[in-house]
Amino acid sequence: MNLILLGPPGAGKGTQAKFIANKFNLYQLSTGDLLRNEIKNKTELGKKINHIIAQGDFVVDEIVNHLLKTAIKSSNNRNNIIFDGYPRNISQAENLEVILNEDNQSINFILFLKVTRDIIENRILGRITCEKCNTTFNKYLDKNAIEKHKCGNSYLKKREDDNKEVIITRYEEYMKKTKPVLDFYSSRSYFHEIDGSQKIEVITNKIEQILTV
Ligand code: AMP
Repeated sequence: MNLILLGPPGAGKGTQAKFIANKFNLYQLSTGDLLRNEIKNKTELGKKINHIIAQGDFVVDEIVNHLLKTAIKSSNNRNNIIFDGYPRNISQAENLEVILNEDNQSINFILFLKVTRDIIENRILGRITCEKCNTTFNKYLDKNAIEKHKCGNSYLKKREDDNKEVIITRYEEYMKKTKPVLDFYSSRSYFHEIDGSQKIEVITNKIEQILTV
């Protein structure tokens, strides 16, 4: 199965994608992670997009579409993909259908994590990610798990775009460009809205129920 996780920044798409990927043996295709890898590896592309991501703006479709297509084609995960952070606008949604159609693949589930603005801010400001294994924690809520983290604490870093000023831009980008994607998909029978303000385990259970029907 291929599924799309939709929701505003900080909705928990990455966290849920990791759980589902492990549980159902799927490939988490996060365009945010792909772009951050370019920056981490200091590639030419990475240098070009660094400031765009740091400011909270969207990277241009041409670049993201190329990374996405390469990831889809080069992975051994046909029909086993979780799209996390893509599509982020209508044009990307259309592009995804074309790429999947060309490859005889389709979308089986669209899961929208609905979360309010105040929750998003608290989650994003507390978010820290392990640079080694890419696990995400909330520094206010996950103190025990952070202490016991298998890679140690020295790899835990805050994302550069996870600050109060940039959240405003990221949220505005979402409202202006990504929210219309919900209308594009919402009439489909495999579109599911989930209350993303609940605890992580509750949301994971809900997703599992949907995927195993
Ligand atoms: P994320 O990890 O999904 O929160 O994405 C982090 C940042 O990467 C976003 O704020 C954008 O700057 C960029 N980005 C990720 N995915 C996309 C996309 N599909 N289209 C445009 N920009 C993206």
